[in-house]
Amino acid sequence: MDIQIIKVGVDNCYIIKHESTILVDGGMPGEFNKFSKRLKDIGINPREIKAIVITHCHWDHIGCTKKIKDMTGAKVIVQKYEKNILVKGETAMPPGVTRWGKIFGAFLNSWSKKFSIESSEVDIVIGEEDYSLDEFGIKGKIVFTPGHSRGSISVVLDSGDAFVGDMAMNGLPLTIGPNLPIFAEDMSALKNSWRKLIDNGVKKIYPAHGKPFPVEKLMKKVVL
Ligand SMILES: [Zn+2]
Repeated sequence: MDIQIIKVGVDNCYIIKHESTILVDGGMPGEFNKFSKRLKDIGINPREIKAIVITHCHWDHIGCTKKIKDMTGAKVIVQKYEKNILVKGETAMPPGVTRWGKIFGAFLNSWSKKFSIESSEVDIVIGEEDYSLDEFGIKGKIVFTPGHSRGSISVVLDSGDAFVGDMAMNGLPLTIGPNLPIFAEDMSALKNSWRKLIDNGVKKIYPAHGKPFPVEKLMKKVVL
């Protein structure tokens, strides 16, 4: 299994390649050219991407989805509680849960209004149960992990690599080192989702903001 990071504005998208290739998240609005250039640089033919898994529909994770879908022909996968945000092209943003989250969140919220999200078709809608990625030649599954947002999902590979969207943030200006997010709709749901991921045997965490880190760095913050 080959994993590559593509930075699209403030957001990391991830390419996961095995028998086939999938993409995690659709990046920040207005950054499509950067995305397609980087794809070329790492030697990925757009047509080999078979699915785009959207971890959640906040504005900085769905901004290029429509253009990436048009380029790749990939199926867009979203959780059912957030499907309409992408279909309608809304700019959604969660509330701050720490003091810094509230201050920085207010700035990000007004910044996000400068962008518009192109609405995208959705091909596969995920419920609350696990969804196998077998059909895309990837050994792993999508797990429902609400908390940061109501319809957050994570990609968990059999190898223990986990792509968690904004369930964790790693680094300035958001956090100092790996930590829980500074924005969330429901922190106790988020901690429950972390326990669910740990029960699923996750080892290495790939956040949408910041570098990957071992799950041990977050254990203390999520275990009761
Ligand atoms: Zn988010």
